[in-house]
Amino acid sequence: MSTITNGSAATPTTSTEPILRVRDLHVRFPTPRGTVHAVRGVDLELRRGEVLGIVGESGSGKSVTSLAVLGLLPDTTKVTGSVQLDGDELLGRSDKQMSRLRGDKVAMVFQDPLSAFTPVYTIGDQIAETVRLHRGASKAEARARAIELLGLVGIPEPARRVDAFPHEFSGGMRQRAMIAMAMANDPDVILADEPTTALDVTIQAQIIEVLRTAQRETGAALVFVSHDLGVIAGIADRIAVMYAG
Ligand code: ADP
Ligand code: MG
Repeated sequence: MSTITNGSAATPTTSTEPILRVRDLHVRFPTPRGTVHAVRGVDLELRRGEVLGIVGESGSGKSVTSLAVLGLLPDTTKVTGSVQLDGDELLGRSDKQMSRLRGDKVAMVFQDPLSAFTPVYTIGDQIAETVRLHRGASKAEARARAIELLGLVGIPEPARRVDAFPHEFSGGMRQRAMIAMAMANDPDVILADEPTTALDVTIQAQIIEVLRTAQRETGAALVFVSHDLGVIAGIADRIAVMYAG
């Protein structure tokens, strides 16, 4: 009888399939003064549960790459190559198809949380709306989920804070709330573009911890974009460096 075990044999082969695969991505912006070739042949691969750091100097094309993946670039932009999510090609999909995907399979966290929230609705209503939109939950279920999510990202007294408006939160708390919204539908991929850049150093460390929690709770793959290698080194499993597109 053999006593030799092969550890890798127990791992299903699907776990090594990338959840996000970007191939030869090019982004060109037609401008009155000629074409700006902002992204030049980017290749990325990301597996479930993995944290990929993308680092590069300002203007190297990090944000444009993220926006291309999310389908958030202006209509006149020329995007070529391939962006596959769980094997499905995203490039060339309609705005309607892409907006169904965003906040559901792919969630995002930006530098400025004020841009993610409308000032006229409460934080809780906006998180609950994301849950209802993609999951068809009842009003009460969605509110309960919003409270649960706010608790997970470390908002104190979430049952009370759920009724706060965005301006009543500090910058760090708004960033936590945006991460809560990103987690709302258990996405496959969370794209975080400079999520800590606008924050004090002490708050930065807390937000990175919250992103780790979000990644763990959802099992999502996390893309963490920053110009700061120190920040990236603290969270990423692998690091991709961008230089001039
Ligand atoms: P970063 O790595 O700092 O996130 P960006 O991805 O924002 O850099 O920008 C990459 C390049 O693309 C920059 O040179 C920027 O000026 C250019 N760019 C971004 N958006 C547009 C646009 N809508 N039209 C023309 N050029 C753009
Ligand atoms: Mg950027």
